[in-house]
Amino acid sequence: MIYADNAATTKLDIDAFEAMKPYLLNEYGNASQPYSFSRTARKALKQARIDIASCINASPEEIYFTSGGTESDNWAIIGTAFSNNSHHAVITSEIEHHAILRSCAAIERLGYPVAYLRSDRYGIIQPHELTTTITDKTKLVSVMYANNEIGSIQPIKKLCSIAHENGSYFHTDAVQAVGHINIDVKDLGVDMLSASAHKFNGPKGIGFLYIRNGIKLSPYANGGSQENGMRAGTENIASIVGMATALKKSCEGIKSSAQKLFSIESAFLRQLESLGVCYLRNGGLQRIPGNVSISIKGTSGELLLHRLDFMGICVSTGSACDSKTAQTSHVITAIGVPSEYAKGTIRVSFGNQNTESDAVIIANAISKIINSSK
Ligand code: PLP
Repeated sequence: MIYADNAATTKLDIDAFEAMKPYLLNEYGNASQPYSFSRTARKALKQARIDIASCINASPEEIYFTSGGTESDNWAIIGTAFSNNSHHAVITSEIEHHAILRSCAAIERLGYPVAYLRSDRYGIIQPHELTTTITDKTKLVSVMYANNEIGSIQPIKKLCSIAHENGSYFHTDAVQAVGHINIDVKDLGVDMLSASAHKFNGPKGIGFLYIRNGIKLSPYANGGSQENGMRAGTENIASIVGMATALKKSCEGIKSSAQKLFSIESAFLRQLESLGVCYLRNGGLQRIPGNVSISIKGTSGELLLHRLDFMGICVSTGSACDSKTAQTSHVITAIGVPSEYAKGTIRVSFGNQNTESDAVIIANAISKIINSSK
C-alpha cells in the first residue's frame, strides 16, 4: 500500500507510541488525585504542557487539552460567543473546515451575526476583505492558518493585526499547520489557536486550544476543575504524552521534512507532466509541505480515488470529512476552478514515510486510469 492522505491523518510515531505505553498500562492514576501513585501522571501532564507550549512559543498555562481539532474549533467559536451576553458578530472565511463553518452556523441560529470572507483564486483571504467587513460589533475573527484541501497558507499576522485594531479577538484553526511549519503565537499575535495531534504523527482524539492569557472564553465542559476549570473531564494522560512527544519530534525536524516533502511533490508533478496529464495545481504560492491538490481535466475525482484504492494507493478527493459527499467541495467552488477541471479534483498529501518513488508510482497510476477510461 502507498498511503498518501496525510492531510486526513498520519501514522502514529513510534516514539510517541512508546511514550504513551506506561500511562496506558501501569501509570494509570488519575492526575487530579493527591496520593503519590498519581504523581507520575501529574508530572507527565505538566511536562507535556511545557513541551507543547515551547513548540509554539506559548506559556504552559495557555495550553488547554481537548479531544482534537473539532473540539478546539467549536470551543473557540462558541466559547467566545457565549462569553458575553450581547450578540456580537463573528467573521470567518468561506473556505474553513466544517468544524468552524458548522460552529458558526450553530451560533447564527442563536442570533449571532456571522460574515464569511471570500477567498481569492489561490485560496487566500486577502486582508482588504477583512478591513471592509469588520465593524466595532465584531467580537471574533477566525481564519484558518492553512487550508486542509489545497494547503494555502494565510496571511495570519496581518489578519490578526486588523482584528486587534478593531477591538476583536483573533482565532486560527492551525490543525494543518502545527508540526509542519514553524509557529510562534507571540509573533503572530493570535488570541486562540487550534491543533490536533493526529495531523503530526500523534494519536487520534487529542488536541489542544491555545488561549492567550487574559482572553475571556466560556468553559467548554462543566464539571471538575481540570484544565483550569475550563474543560472538565479526567485528562487523557497517555494521549497527551503521545501528542507532546510527536509535536516535539515534528518541530525538531520541520526544516528537513519540508525539504523532503517539496522534492516528493516536484517528482510527482514532473511525472504527471511527462505523461501529458492535463491538470491545474490548486492553492497559493505558499503551501503546507506535501499537500498537492490538483484538478484534472475531463475526469472524476471519485473515479480516480476508487481506482487508485484498487491499486493499493490512498489519496483523497477533498477533506476527509467530505469523503462521503460526491459534490465539488466548498473550497474548490470558492477558488473558482473551471468546471471542466473541478470534478476531477484529488488531494495527494505526502508525509514522512513517502518517497519520490511513491510519487512516481502514483502519477503513473493516475495517467493509466485516465487513459483507460477515455
Ligand atoms: N480543522 C482542519 C483544518 C482540519 O483539517 C481538521 C481535520 O481534518 C479539523 C479541523 C478537525 O480535526 P480533528 O480531526 O482532530 O477533529
